[in-house]
Amino acid sequence: VTLTELVLGTARESGDKIALVDGTTGDSLTYAELVEAAEAGAAGLHRAGVRPGDVVALMSHNQPAYAIALHAVIAAGATVTPINPVLTHREVTGQLTAAGAKVLIAANTVADKAVEVAAAAGVTRVFLLGGDDVSGAPSFETLLAEGGPAPDPDLDPATAVAVLPFSSGTTGTSKGVRLTHRNLVANLLQTRAGWPIGPDDVQAAVLPFFHIYGFTIILNSGLLGGATVVTLPRFEVGGYLAALARYRVTRAYFAPPMLLALARAPEIDELDLSSLRYVLCGAAPMDVEVTERLEKRLGCLIRQGYGMTEASPGTHQVFDAEFPATPTGSVGRLSPNTEARLVRPGTDTDVPPGEPGELLIRGPQVMAGYLGNPRATAETITDGWLHTGDMVRVDDDGLFWVVDRIKELIKYKGYQVAPAELESVLLTHPAVTDAAVVGVPHAEGGEAPRAYVVTTGPVDEGELMMFVAERVAPYKKVREVRFVDEIPKSPTGKILRRVLRDGA
Ligand code: ATP
Ligand code: MG
Repeated sequence: VTLTELVLGTARESGDKIALVDGTTGDSLTYAELVEAAEAGAAGLHRAGVRPGDVVALMSHNQPAYAIALHAVIAAGATVTPINPVLTHREVTGQLTAAGAKVLIAANTVADKAVEVAAAAGVTRVFLLGGDDVSGAPSFETLLAEGGPAPDPDLDPATAVAVLPFSSGTTGTSKGVRLTHRNLVANLLQTRAGWPIGPDDVQAAVLPFFHIYGFTIILNSGLLGGATVVTLPRFEVGGYLAALARYRVTRAYFAPPMLLALARAPEIDELDLSSLRYVLCGAAPMDVEVTERLEKRLGCLIRQGYGMTEASPGTHQVFDAEFPATPTGSVGRLSPNTEARLVRPGTDTDVPPGEPGELLIRGPQVMAGYLGNPRATAETITDGWLHTGDMVRVDDDGLFWVVDRIKELIKYKGYQVAPAELESVLLTHPAVTDAAVVGVPHAEGGEAPRAYVVTTGPVDEGELMMFVAERVAPYKKVREVRFVDEIPKSPTGKILRRVLRDGA
């Protein structure tokens, strides 16, 4: 089946149930309205010249109309490439050009930018989400108003690319990732096996839909389950918590920076958050101590998922059924129909049981390949095995634990030091509110850990270095501390270590 058949087909059965709510305005959309609008949008895009195989870019913050536009493009048989609306003109133009986008659908809040980048990238049509024709571009709603039967493209789900997301660019330039209908359908069904989201669920959707985590796990899994998805355009502690209470959210999705902010939020104690049943965290290493503190305050356990853009994204989950039984910090087990190997990085040799190794993944959710980069594809996928670049171990209970990214491991005198472990230790210091560790050249060790910290109370470098030294093996010691106002992070919640390094 195609992504459209799966998601819109199921949506049709949910009829008058509320599919999406704008968490800021309270405006909502039923499943029947979503299906009708997506089909009208597909017909409109077809009239505008969009054909199977074409690429349509979607540049917007989270809002209910996002789901309409997205499913309109896919129902028309085209490929949607989601774009982060806060990227610079140069970055957006780059993505449009790389993707070969023909049409751009953009939030009217970024109308001027949309019109300019479209001209720069040779995109012929721009439609604006949000009602009004501004900046000389027509609204997407005009396209819907004409209605019309949806086109019925003849697609091969195994090869037709439904979505072309770009990876976060944490380790370098972000890469276009070709995800087929089959990849996404597989991952939605795999996800559902572990997290049976249903009509009684209300999903909080603040992590961006332009990233694969928000796209598959929060938005489309929610729609597939017949749940209500509450959209928020950006994360802000007070507004987010108020939305959790107001809409009686049952499932919330975090990235680690949200954990840090929420753990310190006084508002939590004044709100009734008793509807929360499952909180999931993913996208970057999760700090156990901060998580446990927040769990107590939220009155709900926080468990993890793991994945990457190249895997649509999910490969590991803490299943609902094992939620309480799984220790905090584990990413759980493999999703169904997914195989894993742990190898010595850069080799094809499996590590002995219990030892950490580079995680390789095989399954129907693994991408068709990178966009326009057969070499990178061939290096990343060998015999169907996706090389994740992450160091991972499996414990005696078969639970997986992410150590850190291999590229970020610090090699001190031949030992390997994981920044995530040192960051966790630093965060247990009462004066430290955020921390990032990077490897820097070191005369004796070759490379050694340098910490960047955000602090509230008075504390000096020597004290922090001592604090860490008392808690870790000598080779892991932090050898330098820098005090900063903020740790740079990507919109998808990852520490931008290269930015710290460059800004040294
Ligand atoms: P790029 O590949 O462009 O450098 P990126 O790898 O950050 O960027 P994504 O596909 O968004 O782009 O992120 C996938 C990565 O996120 C994984 O490879 C892993 O390093 C990290 N990750 C995801 N979930 C978790 C988790 N639960 N714990 C630790 N790390 C995680
Ligand atoms: Mg990556």
